[in-house]
Amino acid sequence: MQDQTFDLAVLGGGSGGIATARRAAQYGAKVVLIEPARLGGTCVNVGCVPKKLMWHAAQIAGTLAEAAGYGFELAAHSHDWSALVERREAYIRRLNGIYRDGLDRDRVSLVEGYGRLLPDGRVACGEKAIAARHVLIATGGKPQRPTVPGAELGIDSDGFFALQAMPNRVAVVGAGYIAVELCGVLRALGAEVTLIVRGQRLLSSFDAMLAEALSAELIQQGVRIRYGCEVKRLERQHDSSSSSLGASLNDGTAIAVDTLIWATGRRANTEGLGLAEAGVKLDDAGHIVVDDWQNSSRESVHAVGDVTGRVPLTPVAIAAGRRLADRLFDGQSERKLDYANIASVVFSHPPIGTVGLSEDAARKQYGDVVKIYNTRFKALYYGLLEHKHETAMKLVCVGPEQKVVGVHVIGIGADEMIQGFAVAVRMGATKRDFDDTVAIHPTSSEELVTMR
Ligand code: FAD
Ligand code: NDP
Repeated sequence: MQDQTFDLAVLGGGSGGIATARRAAQYGAKVVLIEPARLGGTCVNVGCVPKKLMWHAAQIAGTLAEAAGYGFELAAHSHDWSALVERREAYIRRLNGIYRDGLDRDRVSLVEGYGRLLPDGRVACGEKAIAARHVLIATGGKPQRPTVPGAELGIDSDGFFALQAMPNRVAVVGAGYIAVELCGVLRALGAEVTLIVRGQRLLSSFDAMLAEALSAELIQQGVRIRYGCEVKRLERQHDSSSSSLGASLNDGTAIAVDTLIWATGRRANTEGLGLAEAGVKLDDAGHIVVDDWQNSSRESVHAVGDVTGRVPLTPVAIAAGRRLADRLFDGQSERKLDYANIASVVFSHPPIGTVGLSEDAARKQYGDVVKIYNTRFKALYYGLLEHKHETAMKLVCVGPEQKVVGVHVIGIGADEMIQGFAVAVRMGATKRDFDDTVAIHPTSSEELVTMR
């Protein structure tokens, strides 16, 4: 390997790295991929996949609780967290193998270990120095936690996926994607959950309607939300029968829990990569600065995915990487990712589906020409049930033609609803196009094409 030159050396075998490596190899490029851990990266091992499986478990818990409303007489049931974790991890091991097979099939060489950039542009991994015409950095990110005394006594999302038993009393700190998703899973499976939010709302970058509706739902489900609160100190407390954590809050109160989960954001994996010495610029938050074509400040060194801090979602890392491979190895010289109008789902309970601008962002950008359509209703599914949950929807439209620039939904089915509407928004659909689309009845999504 020492004396061969590759067309592409990829650091990181996660969503972005694998997608780019394989696409490049399919064009005939000679590719090496360096990865120190399990293939698939965050998404497969400690992110989207295990999270969605836990979300499904929580959905089933909800369905079991609701089954009586549909005439089912179910015997008392319990849930075995460790059995769920065992099955989940076995599934992930199968995925790790599938990723390995995919690399082999496309003849991507795999080197196990940490890679770093050398000042001369080669890539080092242990004793190996690898020469490549292009280098891609796709090393992703990792959880970060505040530097308060005792912070190490808490766990983060990686620690959540390592839990072998369900903690009974949990505090989740944060108000972003991970905080609300883990909070929903734990509550649905029976834990007592307190959500500690430093600000006054959840999901600060989302439309306010979604945050308010989710907050109301979580409270209705029994989650205690402490707005305007920060953990100042974490201590282990021992009494005769148990060991718990005491979390002291900035308002002078304290809570006792079995587990505290820091869901306080993530930072890029850029340490130890030799970036500064190699002339690769980072921004203030530690992300690799890239232009619209995923080029870093050093020629022939590129970056995609979470390490760039640009819309840190799996399909974004994949899409940016594949387009980069199209450009570098298939002559598609203008090929690049358009980061606008990327749809996203928060796997909360109920789920949120969203694409485009929030109402606030649209008003800032377009001023008075913004027109909002809202609806709230209880889905037909809840017609037979005692506890009903609301669905809320918002369309954000601009200009005389009422171009739809934002679609926001919270409620049952929102997760599977939004992808198709994202196509419409991307194509520049107007409210009239929505109105002219005949509804599918009886569904919740029909409300999006019948709003007045
Ligand atoms: P990663 O997937 O993190 O891969 C980076 C890889 O680089 C890792 O395998 C790492 O081991 C490796 N690496 C690190 N340092 C080096 C080095 N020096 N040399 C070589 N390799 C190195 N996104 C969604 O779209 N939907 C979801 O539902 C979703 N849920 C999530 C839930 C959680 C709990 C978390 C944490 C994230 C979730 N995400 C979700 C985000 C998603 O996981 C990331 O956006 C995605 O994994 C980013 O891909 P990446 O290739 O940039 O990085
Ligand atoms: P987010 O950026 O979504 O949320 C971070 C949260 O932590 C914010 O609520 C922030 O508060 C809070 N926070 C930050 N620092 C502190 C602190 N010191 N004390 C208290 N609270 C703090 O990050 P996540 O880690 O939840 O998720 C990372 C990314 O991963 C997401 O942005 C998303 O792109 C991706 N992801 C996607 C998922 C999906 O697609 N379903 C699921 C999970 C993750 P404030 O709002 O006040 O800044």
